[in-house]
Amino acid sequence: MDVYDELGVKKIINCAGTYTIIGGSRMSKATLEAMNEAAHSHVVIQEMQQAVYGRIAALTKNEAACVTPGAMAGLYLTMASCVSMKYQKAFKFISKQDVANAEIIMFRAHRNPYDRGLEVLGVKLVELGYPNNISIVTEEELENAITDRTAAILYLPSCDGGWVPPGALNFEATVKLAKQYRVPLVVDAAAQLPPKSNFWTFTQAGASAIVFSGGKDLKGPQTTGLVLGRMELLQWVHANSFPNYGIGRLHKVGREELAGIYLAVKQYIEADEDERREACERVVSRYAESFTQKDGLHFERAWPNEAGQPIARAKLIITSPALTVEGIEAELAQNNPSIYVRIENGCIYINPMTITLDEAELVLGVFKKINERVTNE
Ligand SMILES: *Cc1c(COP(=O)(O)O)cnc(C)c1O
Repeated sequence: MDVYDELGVKKIINCAGTYTIIGGSRMSKATLEAMNEAAHSHVVIQEMQQAVYGRIAALTKNEAACVTPGAMAGLYLTMASCVSMKYQKAFKFISKQDVANAEIIMFRAHRNPYDRGLEVLGVKLVELGYPNNISIVTEEELENAITDRTAAILYLPSCDGGWVPPGALNFEATVKLAKQYRVPLVVDAAAQLPPKSNFWTFTQAGASAIVFSGGKDLKGPQTTGLVLGRMELLQWVHANSFPNYGIGRLHKVGREELAGIYLAVKQYIEADEDERREACERVVSRYAESFTQKDGLHFERAWPNEAGQPIARAKLIITSPALTVEGIEAELAQNNPSIYVRIENGCIYINPMTITLDEAELVLGVFKKINERVTNE
């Protein structure tokens, strides 16, 4: 009996991907051990922060780093820190009126539920372009939007096949203008791992900061996020963040999480990315090879995945009239253990990133049973 059994909470097999609402990812044994060790002793939190931030910055080839309770908190603190940099004051000393006068530029195509933090912050959002190809935003439009009120540009990088619609200026043009006008460019790359080169490519190209989720593919504690980038901006992120009083005090990160995210980053850097990608390909091939076109269902390789990560998924193709996407989804959910899949444009996808090989086999067995049932009917 484990803690979930004691609580009566059902365990699920996550074939959907690194979705926070179903637990994002699993920490490694080494990460959990480091968290356990960290919990055994008291330390001065700022000393622990300095050590972890220094190591993470070096590992990710950035000048500086900060750990926040998730990427959304990281975005919030980073945008507040852009306002701090503009006025050269900790956020708690900036008047509400000065905050309201500060502008953050964002392409409409990049709007997403996580930018809600900007509204809470009280800054003015300046939106450019449209999330389609009718009127592509030009460099001239961005240049005209940059004024002495601008505190930052917030950018959501797109990758082929990911969830970012068209309609924004590309990263190269945006970073060129950000540098030219000396406006900090902040990149929300919460889910853009792999590839691990994203840790440094955007900041090396001139972004002032980049934000990642610790709880997605990075496999750190669910309640962590990373802000990486230039010291000029990160010094303000440090000044505004926990344990200092001010807005960051409600974004607490404990020593256990600091130890956990450090281990997670170290392992992510050391891991063989090609081997991992191939392991995912093998799971997808196994699904594809287990059925034929004559079966009631079969799988095709789909690439890239929902977040635009360069990892293959297995896409379910239903050929039997006795089967529906909704029916299969419900049957998988009712399985013991319950199986969660991703539904996208009316199709079921199996993402190998969040399942073990045993789980991949177990789920495949359930699909085989469904197939046998309809082909024997
Ligand atoms: C997941 C995600 C976030 C939030 O990450 P958390 O670590 O869960 O706070 C922010 N932005 C984007 C684009 C994301 O995909």
